Amino acid sequence: MKRDIAIIGGGIIGSAAAYFLARSGQAGDVVVIEPDPSYEFATTPQGAGGVRQQFSVHENIEMSKFSLGFFKEFADHLSDISDVPNIQFKEQGYLFLVTKDGEETLRQNQTQQASLGVNAELIEYPEIRHRFPSIERSDIVLGCFTPDDGWIDPNSALWGFRRAAEQLGAQYVRARVTSCQCRNKFPQKRRSKNPQLANFR
Ligand SMILES: Cc1cc2nc3c(=O)[nH]c(=O)nc-3n(C[C@H](O)[C@H](O)[C@H](O)COP(=O)(O)OP(=O)(O)OC[C@H]3O[C@@H](n4cnc5c(N)ncnc54)[C@H](O)[C@@H]3O)c2cc1C
Repeated sequence: MKRDIAIIGGGIIGSAAAYFLARSGQAGDVVVIEPDPSYEFATTPQGAGGVRQQFSVHENIEMSKFSLGFFKEFADHLSDISDVPNIQFKEQGYLFLVTKDGEETLRQNQTQQASLGVNAELIEYPEIRHRFPSIERSDIVLGCFTPDDGWIDPNSALWGFRRAAEQLGAQYVRARVTSCQCRNKFPQKRRSKNPQLANFR
């Protein structure tokens, strides 16, 4: 079997990658190698399904903004695909809470998130008590609330991506990869401009 792109593992990451590659129509043949179509031991079905923009790294925030928008309109994006499960997006927001030690970091993160267009609101503890009465801890000093964030059913999202990828031409092969041979060397190490990612390739 010869294919242009082989994706190892058909969980939500592999299936989403297969979907976007197949959707582009320019990626060539895509095969996803996945040994267990029941996903019994995969991480995805065990996830809580939280989709949040509260990150500290620029790239993560941008990726989450994209994901959030995509998940909110999941059914529309996949409207040409049959048998897409309802991922049950619930826009309930995310609330991060910190004690004094984390206050400065939370403020820095909120500044960065807001500068990237995220609706992220800092809330002092008395206001947290007023808006979220179930939260009562005297050591909390500050919160950051992103009301646009929410929750999905990750198993449904996985199957939505997988069905879409398959209907758009990606092939799922039931097998387990046991070894790989790399014929081409990886490109020269490129350093990110982001100091937090400087040591990652
Ligand atoms: C309790 C819990 C709560 C979480 N909550 C959240 C949350 O709220 N929000 C969030 O964003 N994330 C959350 N996560 C993390 C999230 O679930 C994972 O990041 C995500 O599911 C990873 O997807 P994946 O496709 O990489 O991995 P998986 O879903 O594990 O898929 C990997 C696939 O690779 C296959 N595979 C393994 N070895 C091979 C091989 N040799 N050859 C071929 N295939 C192979 C496996 O069969 C599997 O299907 C949570 C995770 C847990 C455990």
